[in-house]
Amino acid sequence: MSGLNLKGTLFMKPTITTYQYSYITQQIDDLVSAELSVNDAQIRAAVLAKILDRITPLLPTDEPVVTTFLQGLQTERLTRAKAAKLLDPLIPLVVPFPQLTPKQLEKLFRKVKKLKQPNWSEMRLHEMTYLGWNDGGNQKKYLVAPYEGRVIGIQGELSPQTVKGVCAICQTIGNVALFLSTTKSSGLGTYTKKGNYVCRDSAQCNRQLTDLQPLEDFLTVVQPQRNHKK
Ligand SMILES: [Zn+2]
Repeated sequence: MSGLNLKGTLFMKPTITTYQYSYITQQIDDLVSAELSVNDAQIRAAVLAKILDRITPLLPTDEPVVTTFLQGLQTERLTRAKAAKLLDPLIPLVVPFPQLTPKQLEKLFRKVKKLKQPNWSEMRLHEMTYLGWNDGGNQKKYLVAPYEGRVIGIQGELSPQTVKGVCAICQTIGNVALFLSTTKSSGLGTYTKKGNYVCRDSAQCNRQLTDLQPLEDFLTVVQPQRNHKK
């Protein structure tokens, strides 16, 4: 939905989630690959039709930038550069990850002394379904994510060793490292360490995260305080 704000400039109401945006960019990536490698125009048209079927339901119907985007996909033979130019105007339609203050983050990680803050200037908030950053010096990874209607913080040891494997968060094969989180077992008050392989680079992980479910499943396993009733 478009409208006029008090300054009289056009604004767009963000309705696309970050993981939907990652899904859209992945689909456009696939489309570009087909456009670059498939010579048969009919096959290219079939790939385009399939991708439009997948992404159109995720886009608002009444935004001019969406119309321009969809038309652009259909009128040009895409290159990576052209695709990026078409995608950029959609960014204001994405609900970004909220930028948290140092105080808010410290509250999420009360037990951490001298919490290393994430570098917000490097973050692409419209691509972030969760916030993740590494403290390389201390071999730690911090995650902040929505979970059951609130925002939770998860910390753990991150192995310096990177291997090829499936990430427990985005379910994609890539450069992963063992993430050892400390979890309080339900009822007993004892702590157990749980190991999961996750993408070393959380920005990359977010770009590969196209569905909320695997992130929620991961958080259900590692989140520290609540009883696991599932
Ligand atoms: Zn990942």
